[in-house]
Parts: sequence; structure tokens; C-alpha cells
Amino acid sequence: MASEKDRLSILLDAASCNASHIDVELAAFPKFQELLSKRGLSLPLPNTKLILSHHNFDRPLTEKEINSVLQQMANSRADIAKIAMKATSALDNAVVFEVLRSASIPTIMLAMGELGQVSRIVAPRFNAYLTFASVAQGKESAPGQVDTATLANLYRFRSMTSDTPMYGVVGNPVSHSMSPALHNAAMQATNTKGVYVPLQVEDNFAGFITRMAEFGFAGFSITIPGKLPAMDAMDEIDPVAEKIGAMNTVVTRPDGSLKGYNTDWIAAISAIEEKTEGGLKGKRAICLGAGGAGRALAFGALEKGCEHVVVVNRTKEKAVKLSYDLGKRASGISLDEFNKGAAGPYDLLMNTTSVGMHPNVDQSPVQKSSLISGTVVFDAVYNPLQTKLLREAEELGCTTVSGLEMFVRQAAEQFRLWFPTVAAPVDKMRAVVLEKLQK
Ligand code: NAP
Repeated sequence: MASEKDRLSILLDAASCNASHIDVELAAFPKFQELLSKRGLSLPLPNTKLILSHHNFDRPLTEKEINSVLQQMANSRADIAKIAMKATSALDNAVVFEVLRSASIPTIMLAMGELGQVSRIVAPRFNAYLTFASVAQGKESAPGQVDTATLANLYRFRSMTSDTPMYGVVGNPVSHSMSPALHNAAMQATNTKGVYVPLQVEDNFAGFITRMAEFGFAGFSITIPGKLPAMDAMDEIDPVAEKIGAMNTVVTRPDGSLKGYNTDWIAAISAIEEKTEGGLKGKRAICLGAGGAGRALAFGALEKGCEHVVVVNRTKEKAVKLSYDLGKRASGISLDEFNKGAAGPYDLLMNTTSVGMHPNVDQSPVQKSSLISGTVVFDAVYNPLQTKLLREAEELGCTTVSGLEMFVRQAAEQFRLWFPTVAAPVDKMRAVVLEKLQK
């Protein structure tokens, strides 16, 4: 690594050669200025813009610290101010947006780390002078950097302006979420203005959503573990989401108020219904799992007329609790009881547990002997596309429905809620997910 002396010398050489920009650490500025005058140069440099930088790799800066740093930069005749600070909370992005919004000179500000990644991606939205990106994946020079190709192609960075509507997926983790690929492709395919970003949030989901909506986020997808806590931020919740007790979609309305929806249930249930002869009316359904997806599908099945839903869960108490919430047409048993035949005959089996998901692809939530030939079997897991459960169901002559359809349709419903006048490009969305899964 170069010494401080070498570093300053390189920057001085660059200034002497009329480089368009030089980036000098604020702490090194007095020394830089001294060396500059020794070379017979003075500020402002005629052809070179001076960026003065302040970094804190350990923690976010307080408002007082930021103001003090910006004042020192202005006093030092910086052409461009740059602050990079480590994000320890997703809400640190709000500090970045606020500083950029009220900056009096061209400013670059970034929150480092995965929690601050959005501040790098939506920089043009807040008139940041520039952002820092890596030349390629794996070549990051600071935590949270996105590579230039992803910025340009996925996030359409070059066409982002200060009125580009922002959308994002809130959860933990989100780094492997396919939603950014799917929604950005959908917006691009329909010429819809907007950018969709991953929003890693570890706590205070409601506070984060409220604050980001104030900064121009027009909608959110909510994933695990935010589906319940995010509800606290809503001004209104769609009655079905209220009944289910979980939401996965937020719409920021024109007056800034927030409305929460659940698009998971209709996504899965519509896909199942299409494959079920005679529809769901009067059918007996098994719902494996009593978590967020389980609640959505069990409510959905009853909503569409199933005669009875048996909730089956590893932890029996949760199955029983959900069945109470579902009402008279539901009951709850344990997974062990189900495998011993306690549920009786059924027409439809829906897996909403994570069993069978990559990398545990050789697992199935139920024994093959518990499957009934000729029934409809749905699996919420979509990675892999054909789970062990679906494979065994097919072997028995069941009709199968993949979790891919649920994933694509819940996203298409979100798209419709955000862009009511644009037809959701469902085939394009499906193709994007399939391509990602097959990589
Ligand atoms: P969740 O709220 O955490 O619930 C997880 C459920 O899985 C619980 O009922 C849990 O049982 C059960 N479970 C977990 N590990 C198990 C195991 N080893 N054996 C038996 N049961 C087990 O999660 P969620 O939000 O409902 O999501 C569940 C699954 O659905 C995930 O795989 C998720 O990827 C998938 N999903 C897919 C879509 C889609 O669009 N296709 C949408 C949403 C969710 P206990 O109560 O006993 O812990």
C-alpha cells in the first residue's frame, strides 16, 4: 500500500496534469495545501475539481459531526464534498438522503455496508454528484458496492433522475432476493419509470418504511421477517391482509399515506384453482405449515370456498392456534399425526413449510405414503422448481403446482397495485425468475 506521502504526491501530479478530479482526505488537506503551494499551485485549481472526503468505516456520523465536516470542507474550498460512513442501521440511509437533499455544494454521500447499499444505488435520485461502484462483481473496494454493469443494466442508473419513483424489497436477508431482477425487468419491459432496490432491514421495519416513504419510496415488497411488524406503519390495511394477519405489499398513496396488502394468498390460490377441477368450492384441503405463508394460503383456501382446511404443523400448538383463527371450517394437527393418517381423505395438499428448499433438496415435508393419488399438490418452495414433494406427487399421478407460479403472481399483483394503468408483463416476469433459477 502506498504511504501518505506517496498518495499526496500522486494527487499533486494529477492536479499538475489537469486531471478532471482529485479526491483528498479532509484530514490530509492541510498537508496537501502546503505541498500544492510548494509546486506553485493554489486553489481553486483551474482545470481540476477538488473532492474533499471524510470516511468513517466503523459507524455512522451524528448530525453534529456531519455538519462540522461539511463546514470544514466548504471552508477549505472543496468543489465537491464527500462523506462515506458505515451504516449500522437501515435508517442511516435517511441521514444520507437528508444531507444530499439539503446540500449547498455538489455532494457525494454514502452509507457503507449492505445496510446502506440503497444509498449507492439511488444516488441520482437525490442529486448526488456521483456514486462509487466496483468494476466487476468481486472487485469491490468498499463494503456494499454494486458493480457498474448491475448499476447500469439492472437499476438503469444512467436514466435515474430526481423524480424517479423508488420501490424496494424490505427484509432480512434480501441480498439473494429475485424481486429486484423481476420488478426492474417488468418496469423496463413496460417503459414504466421507476427503480426497485433491495432494502436490508434488521429491525424497526415500521419506522424504516415510514421514513423511506417520506423520501419518495412509492411502494415496498415485504419479505421475512417484516410481514407482520411492517403492519404497524400502515394507515390502512386491506381487509384480507388484516384477516390473514400478514402483509407483503405496501402502496404509498398520493397523499403520502400507506396501505398494506397481501398478494401471496391470491397468487397461490389462483394458480391452484386453475389446476383444480371444479374449483375449490367444497374441497378438503391440507395446509402444511402455520407461518406467514401458511396463514395466507389457509385463509385463501377458505375464502375460495374450501369445505375444510386441516392445518398441519411441526409445532402442533401453532397449527391449533391458526385453526382457531380460521374458524369453524378448520382444524389443527401435528405433522406426526398427519403422517399417521389423522387428517383423513383430502383433495388438495399445500406445502407452506420451507422443507425441501435448496440446499435440502432431498427432503419432503411428508412421507410419500401420505400423498393421495389424483389430488392437487402445491409447494410454496420454488428453489428447486421441482421439489421432492412435487416429484413424488407426480409419480402418484397427482396434479402439481409449483411455488414459481406463486412467486411470479404475487409480484404481478404488486405491479398491478403500484401501476394500475399498466398491464403486468407476467410472462416476462416468469422468464426472469426461470433464468435466475436455472443459472
Ligand atoms: P415462516 O413464517 O417462518 O413459517 C415456516 C413454517 O415452516 C412453519 O410452519 C414451520 O414450522 C415450518 N418448518 C420450518 N422448518 C421445518 C422443518 N424442518 N420441518 C417441518 N416444518 C418446518 O415462513 P413463511 O413466510 O411461512 O415461508 C415458508 C416457506 O414458504 C418458505 O420456504 C418460503 O420461501 C415459501 N414462500 C414462498 C412464496 C412464493 O412466492 N412461492 C411466498 C412466501 C413464502 P414450526 O412452526 O414448527 O417452526
